[in-house]
Amino acid sequence: MGRTLIQNATIFTATGQAPFTGDIAVEGNRIASVGPAGKGGAADTVIDATGLFCMPGMTEGHAHLSFENVCATEDLITPTPEAQVFATARGAKALIEAGFTSAYGASEAKLRLAVAVRDEVNAGRIPGPRIRAGGLEISVTGAMGDESREHNPRVGPATIVDGAEEMRRAVRLHCREGIDNIKLDVSGDPFYPSTPGHTTPMTFEEVRVAAETAHAYGRRINAHTRSIDGSKHCVRAGVDGLFHCEYVDEELLDLMEAARDRIFVVPTVGLFAQIMAGEASGHGLSPEVGGYMNIPDLLENSIRTHSELRRRGIRHLIGGDYGFGWSPQGTQGRDLGFFVDYYGYSPAEALVCATRNGGLAMMDSGDLGTLEAGKLADLILVDGDPLADISVLAGPAAIALVMKDGVIQKQSSARAARPAQPALEAAE
Ligand SMILES: [Zn+2]
Repeated sequence: MGRTLIQNATIFTATGQAPFTGDIAVEGNRIASVGPAGKGGAADTVIDATGLFCMPGMTEGHAHLSFENVCATEDLITPTPEAQVFATARGAKALIEAGFTSAYGASEAKLRLAVAVRDEVNAGRIPGPRIRAGGLEISVTGAMGDESREHNPRVGPATIVDGAEEMRRAVRLHCREGIDNIKLDVSGDPFYPSTPGHTTPMTFEEVRVAAETAHAYGRRINAHTRSIDGSKHCVRAGVDGLFHCEYVDEELLDLMEAARDRIFVVPTVGLFAQIMAGEASGHGLSPEVGGYMNIPDLLENSIRTHSELRRRGIRHLIGGDYGFGWSPQGTQGRDLGFFVDYYGYSPAEALVCATRNGGLAMMDSGDLGTLEAGKLADLILVDGDPLADISVLAGPAAIALVMKDGVIQKQSSARAARPAQPALEAAE
């Protein structure tokens, strides 16, 4: 693969070090060195990154790769799996082009969509990020994802289980089918009026058995949890990733803080922010409708809770619940701005959520998410300064170059990337 040298970039390592102008050398799939300009050594390929911002690739922390222009649950249920495979592949492509080199899976419209796309991406046959594949959400009768009624039984975007043994079987089946990230619907949700967000339809025992089973198979387990009891179930049962978490009490905050080196928390605030800003009004979800769904209250609680969790050192991830009619895949970087505006993160801290925290969620080894010698070479060049204007990461336009596992996945614009050239003169 040779040695690639990225020269003269503004380097943000996501380790806490202040940004500096320097060079990064990549050998094979690893970063060989990160240091001052002119000290990168010889290379087979040199990329002049003068004026560009170099940072680790981002992680989408709650990926629904198969969601494309979704406006109702029906859009997840009725399309064929064959059509949805293509949508999922397009989702993966959109993410990598927007600077996301990792996707931490939530759930998908059908069981194996992310598995199929993950395997094609890993084989190098289609573009996409590293993928921890989500499967179906696992829920209980009458809760989120259960689309059946007595007069109209049908399959929703969920596996419905009741009791510990059915849960164990469902999680094992997900593991058998290649799912990396199991997802439970522990709490209710504003889109399911019979079980609103503050309710907790799933029992502790069901959550506990699911976590035990997922871990026995070496998988991660995550949960949709908005309610206080639901989030307590998750922390106590050993769930790895907690999604949403708007409602808290002191006891829950303390539980989460005590588990902060083990859990990841993904607020997925984009969806509610977009609804209340009127961005979903063309799809039947105006701010007024959001009001009926109690979304202003959820948003208020999200701001209060996640600001406090930030102060307590919780590892937040950005992303989640993109792929709707008003929020195309590849715009997940908008969450960085919400993290700054709502939760009080500095731009640099928000970037750490997107990179270092995401890398730790993707793999335990700590090999991903920072720019340091020896780490996996997942990095991006941005035509702009996210620390001065975080919105430059809100879409693919300013993403000038994307490298994943040492391989360039995207190289755009005359500015970023002059064609590869031998650069013997770069040698000391
Ligand atoms: Zn979601």
